[in-house]
Amino acid sequence: MTQLEALLQASAVLHIHLCPRQILGVRMGMYAAEILRIECPQTQKRLFTFVETDGCFADGISVATGCTLGHRTLRLMDYGKVAATFVDTDAEQSIRIRPRLDVRSRAALCKPDERSRWHSQLEAYQVMPLDELFEVEAVFLSISIEDIISRPGVRVNCSICGEEILNERESIIEGSMLCRACTGDVYYHAATGYPPMSKLISKF
Ligand SMILES: [Zn+2]
Ligand SMILES: [Zn+2]
Repeated sequence: MTQLEALLQASAVLHIHLCPRQILGVRMGMYAAEILRIECPQTQKRLFTFVETDGCFADGISVATGCTLGHRTLRLMDYGKVAATFVDTDAEQSIRIRPRLDVRSRAALCKPDERSRWHSQLEAYQVMPLDELFEVEAVFLSISIEDIISRPGVRVNCSICGEEILNERESIIEGSMLCRACTGDVYYHAATGYPPMSKLISKF
């Protein structure tokens, strides 16, 4: 079994099925590792990946690179794009890889006799040469990777809600440490009494 086959199998197990975007993710991750000369799937934390969408593609990237949310080596920049930036945190070198804009028509030409465009992509993405699949550019990050990674073991408590904040994600406002939600940058609000908590909990 080739490394690509083994990684596709692992990706399909993680994801329950194999689909074209997972293959793009696996091959993109392998390509990044090759360009940056980092042995992947990594067991250390040298490679850091920003994925620009979640879903199948992101699972493929994780399997190929070993970058995961759990290892704090994967971050979602939710642009809704099948693209990723790979950061060699040792060499401080970054590359962004995206599929070629005409990758779907190239896939159709490569495997014209499949049952559907989806099946053409599924087969073609496994065998197309990397330079027909992807475009690579060297990039500089406009955010600090050191700030994202932060330091292990750093934690403070929010002065308003009391919840613990890891990885230096607090803001200091007029001398108080505040969590992101308490500064007003919040993605939820309390559902004042409805549905009753007891009803929610009894579902489980
Ligand atoms: Zn999928
Ligand atoms: Zn708070």
